[in-house]
Amino acid sequence: MSNEYDVVIIGSGAGGSTMAHALAARGRRVLVVERGDFIPREFENWSDEAVVVRRRYATSERWLDAAGAEFAPSVHYCVGGNTKVYGAALLRLRQDDFGEVRHHGGVSPAWPIAYEQLERHYTAAERLFSVHGQRGLDPHDPPASAAYPFPALAHEPRIAALADDLSRLGLRPFPIPLGVRLGEASHPTAPIHLSRFDGYPDPTETKADAHVAALAPALARGSVTLRTRSRALRLLTTASGREITGVLVRRDDETEIVHGAIVVVACGAVNSAALFLRSANDAHPRGLANRTGLVGRHLMLHHNGMLLAVGSIQNPSTFQKTIALTDFYRGREPSALPLGTIQAMGKPDPWTVEFMAKGTRLEERAPAELLGRSIDLFLTTEDLPDPRNHVTVDTDGRITVTYVPNNLEAYERLRAETEAMLVRAEALHGRAAPEFLHLRLGIQAVSHQCGTLRFGADPATSVLDPECRAWDVDNLYVVDGSFFPSSGAVNPSLTIMANALRVAEVIGARLG
Ligand SMILES: Cc1cc2nc3c(=O)[nH]c(=O)nc-3n(C[C@H](O)[C@H](O)[C@H](O)COP(=O)(O)OP(=O)(O)OC[C@H]3O[C@@H](n4cnc5c(N)ncnc54)[C@H](O)[C@@H]3O)c2cc1C
Repeated sequence: MSNEYDVVIIGSGAGGSTMAHALAARGRRVLVVERGDFIPREFENWSDEAVVVRRRYATSERWLDAAGAEFAPSVHYCVGGNTKVYGAALLRLRQDDFGEVRHHGGVSPAWPIAYEQLERHYTAAERLFSVHGQRGLDPHDPPASAAYPFPALAHEPRIAALADDLSRLGLRPFPIPLGVRLGEASHPTAPIHLSRFDGYPDPTETKADAHVAALAPALARGSVTLRTRSRALRLLTTASGREITGVLVRRDDETEIVHGAIVVVACGAVNSAALFLRSANDAHPRGLANRTGLVGRHLMLHHNGMLLAVGSIQNPSTFQKTIALTDFYRGREPSALPLGTIQAMGKPDPWTVEFMAKGTRLEERAPAELLGRSIDLFLTTEDLPDPRNHVTVDTDGRITVTYVPNNLEAYERLRAETEAMLVRAEALHGRAAPEFLHLRLGIQAVSHQCGTLRFGADPATSVLDPECRAWDVDNLYVVDGSFFPSSGAVNPSLTIMANALRVAEVIGARLG
């Protein structure tokens, strides 16, 4: 097999697979190097016990925190990357997230590109990932040049009733834009079955993950090759360090060097930074493209948490992940400082609920009983890019994540607003206030990781240029979540996908 390609892409998640799809459409010879394998379509895909307790699809790798303690990161090495288990909530960043924004905990910096430069790529990404939604309802949705490709999913009755109640309170709930392939032409025989969702692979392939929506059609074109179970160990450069000459890859016990005119790194924010650091050589003694010492820094994770409101009436929904609110995205009178996004999540598993109930008044209740009456929400607020939050690798290549949460006031305020809102919704019907279970996710939930190879207009303060090319290496690009200079407070994948399409145009033009 030839080892010469136009482009070698490392990692097949949101960024890598979207890039492969765009380059395949241009007829480019592409190699995708993926350290994981295909997730089998099997009974265990939707088994709480297999997925949550035995972590069947998560990596067994352990990372270290700043104190040197091991933790099990919620990271999935497989074809499709973390999108195989994602919740497919595909929202655009808000228009003003691209500018400088003042927060409770500091300032999030401006991006080197404006929203308008990404807009048509957002539209294309929504098409590629079959986003179902409705424009004009999300009060902070940025201007869009096209309708969503598919109509929003209908709420089930309990969620529809909640949406009505929240509207009566003056709030503006809207349908979550979801990437799902519900019988459209590309997927005509799919069983329409949505149940287990965020956190679980989808054996029906209805969820539009990066594997089924982007990589599989790219592979079908014939110019893209995928090597699974193939881990990029190092990027090799010329003596000057200005160009990547090859990628050292290990598959099982064998190593080889693969070559591309251009190399695109898309390993996820933590692993991409680790790959740059592990690729130190004479020309790049502190790690690839790390003259400034910024590689691995400014790690952001979002503050994400689960809030369960256990009320007095049943919530028999099969698929409740259809409602979101951004009413508090830009604060709550009298403060205009940002809070974040509230969205429904897939039904949590009983083990997590049991854990959340420990030490509360609901401790003695069976998880199934609580889940039968709960409205289950996911809260997301922004953490700010702090250079002290960073990824390092030791001499064995082992990853340490140093992370101290910041801007937590926004999270606590959003949680309080959400609880108050749900209490008022119940009061509309004369029902008692729900009881709340809450869990803010910790460092092991690196699901929204970003920021470790930030792009920018100034080589002194960024690792990548505005086209996501490494300032110090001519043929090296990055298209996963690493490039974010700030994270906003919406789920990151659609922005990663849109940016990959933008950068694919740059690479396509460069290759001629
Ligand atoms: C449970 C869960 C729910 C989520 N829900 C949502 C949601 O609803 N909406 C949303 O927008 N986001 C969601 N996310 C986040 C989303 O999955 C990530 O933001 C997205 O997948 C990141 O894309 P990426 O390209 O940066 O990296 P990834 O998708 O993580 O892909 C990285 C790929 O690189 C591979 N890789 C890593 N190192 C190497 C190496 N050295 N050599 C070769 N291959 C390598 C990995 O195996 C992986 O396939 C969720 C995540 C989780 C875990």
